[in-house]
Amino acid sequence: MNLIFLGPPGAGKGTIAAMVKEAYQIPHISTGDLFRANIKNETELGKRVKAILASGDLVPDEVTIKMVDNRLGEDDAKNGYILDGFPRTIAQADALKEMSKVDYVINFVLEREDILKRLSGRRVCKSTGRTYHILYNPPKVEGIDDETGEPLIQRDDDKEEAILNRLEVYDKSTAPLIDYYKERGLLIDLDASKSPEEVFAELKNILK
Ligand code: AMP
Repeated sequence: MNLIFLGPPGAGKGTIAAMVKEAYQIPHISTGDLFRANIKNETELGKRVKAILASGDLVPDEVTIKMVDNRLGEDDAKNGYILDGFPRTIAQADALKEMSKVDYVINFVLEREDILKRLSGRRVCKSTGRTYHILYNPPKVEGIDDETGEPLIQRDDDKEEAILNRLEVYDKSTAPLIDYYKERGLLIDLDASKSPEEVFAELKNILK
């Protein structure tokens, strides 16, 4: 099963993708996570994209498409995948069509006010990428990852100025993909306003 998770930043795509990965045994391919791993490991790609991620702008299409093409070529993606955060532009969607057949595009639907609340309260474990929310999904011990015991951080691009830019970028470049996939009969809306467990239950129903 080849799935795309589409939706604004903060809609819970990463959280639900981790649950789907576990339940369906398919890899969770997050382009944001791949870029952040490259930045952390100080690769050439990481150096090239670091400032772009911090500002909330998009990495150029050709760079992103090449990275995804390589990742989808790996063995674990042969029997399905969840693409989280890709495609984000029409050009990326056109390129994906040439790489792989998509089964469903899950459109995470969430009000702008809720998006802002979620992004500003989000905290992550830098080494595992596991996400929490200070109010809605807090760790067992404040500021500490449940499993690794490492301190949680706020992503640079979850700070207010970058959030506003990311939402503008989403509206301009990514939201047009809703119609793109609707026209192709692949789009399924998912109400992302509920708890992760409820959203996941709803998604499982849809995928049946
Ligand atoms: P995310 O973790 O999905 O919110 O992505 C974090 C950042 O990585 C984005 O704000 C972009 O700078 C970059 N990024 C992730 N996915 C893409 C993509 N498909 N195209 C371009 N840039 C991306």
